Amino acid sequence: MTQPDIEQALGRLVGPLEPEVGCDECFDELDRYVELELAGSDADAAVPGLRAHLDGCPACREEHDSLVALVSAEKHRT
Ligand SMILES: [Zn+2]
Repeated sequence: MTQPDIEQALGRLVGPLEPEVGCDECFDELDRYVELELAGSDADAAVPGLRAHLDGCPACREEHDSLVALVSAEKHRT
């Protein structure tokens, strides 16, 4: 049996990919990130690690998606 391998694999799936960006920082930077993203700028370069956090955090990704929908709806209204 290869029990340690399984535990290692599970730990990799669950563990955070970019520990330097937490949910608090993510929420703080999300407005700016979405603005840059919709403007076609390199949002990943402006806010390093945030994309990785969104990929690993369903709650923040949901927040990101609704913010994208909100901001693009406002932009199209003009
Ligand atoms: Zn998060």
